[in-house]
Amino acid sequence: MLKGKAAIVTGSTSGIGLGIARALASEGAQIMLNGFGDKAEIEKLRREISATHGVKVGYSAADMSKPGDIREMVQQAAQELGSVDVLVNNAGIQFVAPVDEFPEDKWNAIIAINLSAAFHATKAALPLMKQRKWGRIVNIASAHGLVASENKVAYVAAKHGIVGMTKVVAIEAANHGVTCNAICPGWVLTPLVQKQIEARAKAENIPVDKAKNDLLREKQPMLQFSTPEQIGALAVYLASDAAATITGTTISIDGGWVAQ
Ligand code: NAD
Repeated sequence: MLKGKAAIVTGSTSGIGLGIARALASEGAQIMLNGFGDKAEIEKLRREISATHGVKVGYSAADMSKPGDIREMVQQAAQELGSVDVLVNNAGIQFVAPVDEFPEDKWNAIIAINLSAAFHATKAALPLMKQRKWGRIVNIASAHGLVASENKVAYVAAKHGIVGMTKVVAIEAANHGVTCNAICPGWVLTPLVQKQIEARAKAENIPVDKAKNDLLREKQPMLQFSTPEQIGALAVYLASDAAATITGTTISIDGGWVAQ
């Protein structure tokens, strides 16, 4: 379905981003991976995805908190893969503390990586998509792009910001063959969430399994995690021709979290 297209997936060395990169590659898209991690492990991953799906896979070590790195990543993708047709703004971090104790450096880092990075990547990639009169921008927001939770001021502000940016980009790109949408996952069991579960188990002196169940029960009517594969399948759908007129919207994949 995506043969001949090239996709950048930020933060794709782990979790949801990796699930999306694999799903896009399985549809024939060439991929630019990005994210942190062990160099040898990333190279192994790059080769494995390329061999499994018979597509070109590149890697950019761009730090999403640095606008110059982000511009270089987009240029690198255009050079190595020939175009940038799909941009998935996925890289993200979390930090949990009450507002009046929230460290300023954590606020700045979360706004830079979870919000500003999507602006810089979109700004750099959109002209390339307009030129080819086809593009798909998929922003990975969160249930926290639609509703709030305590102790997550920077994350909730950044994710609400992503939802707003999604709407503006969609309107501006509407007659250029480019769509822009936000996926809003509930809980997905990735390293980002595992850290929160372990912190909760420690703070409440309870087993990790109980902390995991409590985490789900607190927010999601459906007591199960979504998977990176399911988020990947949704991103593939948004990149497909079937979704050509879906733009400027949020799509929840959250076990009923925001239905309440
Ligand atoms: P993760 O920790 O498994 O993966 C995050 C990825 O981002 C990694 O590849 C990491 O190397 C990369 N990254 C972090 N900082 C970076 C930086 N400065 N520059 C480049 N790459 C960087 O987390 P995840 O759960 O897969 O989260 C992915 C996205 O999904 C995030 O935007 C997150 O907010 C969102 N999300 C996650 C959940 C969930 O339950 N896991 C729910 C809703 C939304």
